[in-house]
Amino acid sequence: MRRFTIVVHGGAGPLPSEERGRAAAAGCLQTARIGHRILAEGGSALEAVQAACVALEDDPLFNAGTGSCLNEEGRIEMDAAIMEGTTRRVGAVAAITRVKNPVLVARRVMDRGRHVLLAGEGADRFAREEGFAPYPPALLVTAAALQRWQREREGKIPPRPGTVGAVAIDQEGRVAAATSTGGTSGKAPGRIGDSPIPGAGLYAHDAAGAVSATGQGEAILRGVLSRHICDRMAAGIPAQQAVEEGIRELARLGGEGGAIAVDREGRAGFASNTPFMSWAMIDADGQESSGYRCRLP
Ligand code: ASP
Repeated sequence: MRRFTIVVHGGAGPLPSEERGRAAAAGCLQTARIGHRILAEGGSALEAVQAACVALEDDPLFNAGTGSCLNEEGRIEMDAAIMEGTTRRVGAVAAITRVKNPVLVARRVMDRGRHVLLAGEGADRFAREEGFAPYPPALLVTAAALQRWQREREGKIPPRPGTVGAVAIDQEGRVAAATSTGGTSGKAPGRIGDSPIPGAGLYAHDAAGAVSATGQGEAILRGVLSRHICDRMAAGIPAQQAVEEGIRELARLGGEGGAIAVDREGRAGFASNTPFMSWAMIDADGQESSGYRCRLP
């Protein structure tokens, strides 16, 4: 039996508060357990990262699905993607507005296989045609996200992190990654970040490993961060070192953020150049760890 592992993150950025940090780490761990159970029962890495991502989208603490950040106009536009590393199929949605779980729509885009990325109105229409129930955007807006948006407009607090992601390797040695976000708070309408872009917000390749990124999307896009980290792992560099190298490259681009990874040997890695990143991981022995202080060593 190959070693299987799951790692999840709940976003990188300024430290919100110790209390919120602890809650985010606990939320990540609970979610990692959902994915780990799937892996332990012989399920695929793809199913594990999808289930983890759905749970994080449903947790109002995180900036994805319910609890998403609001844009300049006070509206939610969500980005998500999912990718498997065996045949490198990938599906993504961007600026989608009327679904509960964007990652499930991304998965359907992947399964249909006609396109890789659908955005805006077309993504919402695709979701309807595929039988996803229309979800009132108002239900995605939490009181905390609204309050935060109002205070940010007054210039009072830094933008909130909380994008979510998961990476896993299963018993067959297959890897997968998923990432989901409400994007950056106060973003321009129509802005699409790194999260739904293969190579930037996520990447998966069985010959290397899987990566999910979080942080300033514009810099992550410019550095094609997830593919950069995967290329390091393909060269035999362990996940932890590959992620650290990737975050240093992000810093050279003037960006702040973090990433999680598993390599083809089942080793896990995570790092950020921000004071805060919530994360959790569980390996094949059931060894659990989680935290929220994640500066680059
Ligand atoms: N990377 C996300 C974006 O730029 C935001 C985040 O990770 O917090 O949309």
